[in-house]
Amino acid sequence: MFKGILVHKDEAGYRATLQDIDETQLGDGDVTVRVEWSTLNYKDGLAITGKSPVVRRFPLVPGIDFAGTVTHSSHAAWKPGDKVILNGWGVGESHHGGLAQTARVSGDWLVALPAAFSTRQAMAIGTAGYTAMLCVLALEKHGIRPADGEILVTGANGGVGGVAIALLAGLGYSVVASTGRLAESDYLQSLGAARVIDRAELSAPGKPLGKERWAGVVDAVGSHTLANACATTKYRGAVTACGLAGGMDFPASVAPFILRAITLYGIDSVMAPLPLRQQAWQRLARDLDIAKLETITREIGLADAIAVGTELLSGTVRGRVVVDMQRGYS
Ligand code: NDP
Repeated sequence: MFKGILVHKDEAGYRATLQDIDETQLGDGDVTVRVEWSTLNYKDGLAITGKSPVVRRFPLVPGIDFAGTVTHSSHAAWKPGDKVILNGWGVGESHHGGLAQTARVSGDWLVALPAAFSTRQAMAIGTAGYTAMLCVLALEKHGIRPADGEILVTGANGGVGGVAIALLAGLGYSVVASTGRLAESDYLQSLGAARVIDRAELSAPGKPLGKERWAGVVDAVGSHTLANACATTKYRGAVTACGLAGGMDFPASVAPFILRAITLYGIDSVMAPLPLRQQAWQRLARDLDIAKLETITREIGLADAIAVGTELLSGTVRGRVVVDMQRGYS
């Protein structure tokens, strides 16, 4: 038996409970992992509260990512003692996830923990930080260089936003952070933001085209913010769309695409192919300032995860939340 969160949906309603789970409940997979650290992503908040239909079978262990040590493996790539990371692949949605002390998954889904990171640091980055890296890789592949101009990061106080700012600033880009929490400006500047703007500048319905401001964009917000980001991106610039914290709609016009030749890249972390994941984690190991990561990170125990997962959706949590899966139990 081990401790974990289970999300139930039955005659008693939708609820998440911290409880004992038996290994026989874990389901399919050729690798078993002792989960050391997990994390709370926006999607985990949705799964814990039921605010959006993220969980697709019940009961289910939520948690779209984890880091830990392999305890059993019949997969050729992994052996007991290997340190591994898992992000996505439907884990925490349709397959039992990371918010339990043991996980069983396909070995094809795992990435080796880079030597630069502890399992705690890997989860401080988590799916949010790995997604931020996917956005940065897309902007680089598009050919955007620091000399091309400012990069806008929206949802700046969130997990994706914080890691994106730290990464881009470390790579020499001039970063403009858009936030609804201007009181956190000092924190955003300490991560490397050159300027901080009020998200209200971008969140109202805007014109099809505006003044050309950004060489590139990392957008975690969607809706009017994404439409306005596209409308104010410079000629031949690029926008990466990875989130919907402000809404799933995209009330835009084609003007930025056909008159300014901007490119909109969709960023998905869940089903990203293994080589891209490996590249993203290697680049995080090379380019992310660990000291900055620590300032983004708040640590909780598994016993607090349900309450903090609920808090996450209120938009008041800053940066990243790591969950110590063994605290109080070992
Ligand atoms: P967080 O909850 O940590 O951060 C979201 C941030 O968005 C908040 O901190 C806030 O920043 C801003 N925000 C919240 N509500 C609103 C609103 N109504 N209007 C405008 N801005 C708002 O989430 P993450 O950083 O972990 O994730 C961000 C988004 O990216 C989510 O939508 C998530 O689902 C998505 N995501 C997508 C992935 C993918 O594979 N494509 C992977 C990981 C995440 P501030 O206070 O600074 O304004």
